[in-house]
Amino acid sequence: MTDFVCTKTGRRFGDDQPRWRSDAGALLDLDFEAIIDDEAFAARPPGMWRYREALPLPADAPVASFNEGFTPLIETELDGRLISVKLDYLFPSGSYKDRGASLLISRLAAWGVDHVVEDSSGNAGAAIATYCALAGIACEIYVPQGTSSAKTAQLRAVGAEVVEVPGDRAATEAATLSRVEESGAFYASHVWNPHFLHGTKTFLYELREQCGWDLPDAIVLPAGHGTLLLGCALALEELRCAGRIDRLPKLFAVQSAACDPLTRAFEAHDDEPATITPQPTMAEGIAIARPHRGAQMLRAVGASGGAFLSVTDEEITSALTDVRRCGLYVEPTSAAAIAGLRRLFGQNLIGPEDSVATVLTGHGLKSPPKK
Ligand SMILES: *Cc1c(COP(=O)(O)O)cnc(C)c1O
Repeated sequence: MTDFVCTKTGRRFGDDQPRWRSDAGALLDLDFEAIIDDEAFAARPPGMWRYREALPLPADAPVASFNEGFTPLIETELDGRLISVKLDYLFPSGSYKDRGASLLISRLAAWGVDHVVEDSSGNAGAAIATYCALAGIACEIYVPQGTSSAKTAQLRAVGAEVVEVPGDRAATEAATLSRVEESGAFYASHVWNPHFLHGTKTFLYELREQCGWDLPDAIVLPAGHGTLLLGCALALEELRCAGRIDRLPKLFAVQSAACDPLTRAFEAHDDEPATITPQPTMAEGIAIARPHRGAQMLRAVGASGGAFLSVTDEEITSALTDVRRCGLYVEPTSAAAIAGLRRLFGQNLIGPEDSVATVLTGHGLKSPPKK
């Protein structure tokens, strides 16, 4: 049995019908018991769907999948320290967001949804559009006017309709919601739909398996809306409940100093994201001024004993250059995690004996240099 649970009132809703928010207009989580059978998982072909019983999709529902996932975990040196890096830019649409899209679109197809709307000019939009193409679902992606043609080209190429909205991200979100109301299309938001987070949690399941069914002492992730961070927190909670892990890794979440409502809240010991005025940053993928699940993100990081931290564009540039020189051609946002890791080493927040894993989230071919 899977239920939606309202994060504000605790009210439950059956999952027999599509739904992306509660009747109180609040975010939904899922009450779902993951079945964790390591032996069965390990015997299957590599990919995120080897964890099928740990994913909230009815057993008889077809899966919208390109056999993606089980991305390589490599060991490399950073500033003289050995680190593990998961290459999550190696997905069909070019980012780890395919994990969330594969599960969410599978769930929507099983409900019979045939038309979705999503707002994201970046990797979330590309992932949703890609899996809609696979599942035969009509897809409209709302983007802020002026979004680079490199980004909208991918959306259009896989068959999505791109709608440009004048104004900022908030204006795009408002236009998306009006479109959802007027058209009856489903809002396939990577932030609102909890199924997306259950898809991204496969990152952690894979990491655990690739680390010999163990976990590193610290995990360093880039964070904007927190889809990867919250997916990891979900997986850790499931593994803990199933008695598979007795110690939780520390979660470190890296933001851009130009747009860091969560680092500011974390440092002020607040439980809601700070109100900020975002400045431009090269880490576009994590430049989220108002993260809807911010309170959940702060709780997840706090409970793990980790921290939020912010890095400047100069630090990101330097990390990006170094990572690319290793042959890892990633997009600038991805390098924020590496810059954050450097800072954590420098400040001794990750000790010399601690094992550490991080992730490269988005492919470099998507964001060609501006000049
Ligand atoms: C989406 C994304 C992230 C993480 O963003 P969240 O908003 O926290 O989910 C990190 N890197 C890249 C390249 C992304 O596209």
